[in-house]
Amino acid sequence: MNIDIKYNEYLDEFTYDLSLTMRLQNYISNHFYLAYTIAKLAPIYLVGGSIRCLIYAKKPKDMDFVVLGKEQLEWVLKVFKAYNIDFKRNRFGGYKFIYGDTEVDLWLAEDLFSSMQYNVDGLYFDLGTNSLLSLTFDDFNKNGLKLINPENNIENGREKKLVKYEKIVAERETLIKQINILANDETVKKYFELCGQNDNLANQQKDLYKQIKFQEYSSCNHIWVNTLRDYDPWEGRSYNYCECIKCGLDKRVFQLEEEGYHILTFDQRIMYDFLRNQSYKEGIDTHLLCDLDLAKAIYSKIKEAHPDIDDETAIKYFGVALLHIRDTKVSDERKESRAKRLSLTPEFNKWNGRDVKSY
Ligand SMILES: [Zn+2]
Repeated sequence: MNIDIKYNEYLDEFTYDLSLTMRLQNYISNHFYLAYTIAKLAPIYLVGGSIRCLIYAKKPKDMDFVVLGKEQLEWVLKVFKAYNIDFKRNRFGGYKFIYGDTEVDLWLAEDLFSSMQYNVDGLYFDLGTNSLLSLTFDDFNKNGLKLINPENNIENGREKKLVKYEKIVAERETLIKQINILANDETVKKYFELCGQNDNLANQQKDLYKQIKFQEYSSCNHIWVNTLRDYDPWEGRSYNYCECIKCGLDKRVFQLEEEGYHILTFDQRIMYDFLRNQSYKEGIDTHLLCDLDLAKAIYSKIKEAHPDIDDETAIKYFGVALLHIRDTKVSDERKESRAKRLSLTPEFNKWNGRDVKSY
């Protein structure tokens, strides 16, 4: 495997390296020769970021080694003892120590795959044969241990992604521990129990609400108005959608739904499901053009004043109210107080011909 190495402009310990293999060999010999001592009896690999540093002629911050086979522990510990290595256990169960100017982390693993998560580059330097291996998760999955093309690994930001991935795995481990501790806390248990009950009731409530709305829509003798919702200035066309001023059933949901069911509100989804699955009464088409909020507000005022009014008469009153609103010029203040009377928001200002006119 040939990977081009970089050189620094000034003379340094990397100046005379002819290849990556040579550089790795030199660097390990000069900074942690004991790895080669271990290599005499056990398979040992240099892994990870230090290889990458050396490609770029940078001194690695630390060096990570994997010794293959946990049965090698005895031999490794003998070497440590013979050379007075004062090690600590690192957080992944390996050995950590300073040797000369180098920080070393050394693991024992049953296979190289288990060291994969600490080896973001997928690069392994085999000290036994002084050769470089490049391995990916896929290699292990598909073929087991084998040599592959080095170009696979050190491109496309793979390293960064894997560093991030490793960090997330570690963070989640910590989080899950904390979560598990909390999960046994009585208050937290109670919290989840109550949340569960609440979710359950909320679902029942939603379900009932839907049934009630379905009944309301199917029993209503609809009075349809048209609402100009969509004007396409490029094509000069406008699209009208029907809505019932009595029950609020709104066929506009079909137009909205084109952009995706998820953009519909809870109520609009109920209408959508209803219009799709139920046959509904045709009702009366008024051919009036009016904002639906305004129309519903006017209709409910009419109903308030005349509870027993029939649809035909209600439509007449409704038409008169629209004409009145359309033709009588009033100040913004009056509009505001009228909006208030009709229980519309004070900002409701759609009182012009575009919202209120007959065909
Ligand atoms: Zn209706």
